[in-house]
Amino acid sequence: MTPTDAAIKSGPDKFIAWANELVEGSELSQEQLEILKSWVPLYGKLPNRLKPKLRQQMLIFLKLVKFKNADVPKITEKMRICVAAEACLLILNRSFWDYRYFEQVVIWANVIKNRKGIAGCAFKNKVELNWVSVERGLKNMGDNHNIIIHEFAHVLDFANDEKAQSNPVNPLTAEHKLWEEMIEEEFPKLLKASRAKSDHPIRNYGLKINASAQQTEFFTCATEAFFENSIQLSRACPKIYNALRHFYRLNPEKW
Ligand SMILES: [Zn+2]
Repeated sequence: MTPTDAAIKSGPDKFIAWANELVEGSELSQEQLEILKSWVPLYGKLPNRLKPKLRQQMLIFLKLVKFKNADVPKITEKMRICVAAEACLLILNRSFWDYRYFEQVVIWANVIKNRKGIAGCAFKNKVELNWVSVERGLKNMGDNHNIIIHEFAHVLDFANDEKAQSNPVNPLTAEHKLWEEMIEEEFPKLLKASRAKSDHPIRNYGLKINASAQQTEFFTCATEAFFENSIQLSRACPKIYNALRHFYRLNPEKW
């Protein structure tokens, strides 16, 4: 059993204490901080009181997650910091328990093997990213496309029940039912807007495949909109915005 497996077995509270202990007394280096400020615009947008929390989660992420270069010459510090920052933005006010099964980030230069035209893919324990798409998403903070946020939202969706069905909350809670109702009500509106080619704050990725693929993508695309298009999402789809606000315990509309 690995130390991580043992810590998971001990339950959420002990796992979180164990993870925090791993990085106790450490901080990001000056070089890492410079990369964070230069390459992750969402970090600049974050209220100051949340920044130390993000850096703390990033330290744990960088300690526990392995990075593998698939066909890029090497893993750079910029890759590690950018992925850690946006992955941890999602759990900033939640906890590292969400990423307890997560092990590895694989970086491809431009094309993920056997997945041509795909910017990234996610599993319970692994995310693969096409670096050209990552850089595009990082640079443009308001275009509703952010592949790191998208793929890690899939990881969260997997973590609660091993299924990516756009319901990220524990199936044993009353909140799960509320999410089901919200999706039942809101997803057809996105479908309708996509078919009519009219505007919707959430992008319609996945719809080209079929409606159920689109539903798998509903939570991840809604999460991208929550962080990159928060004001529009909050105004046009308050139910979705409030469900995400409650889930992430963040209110990016005010940032
Ligand atoms: Zn997806």
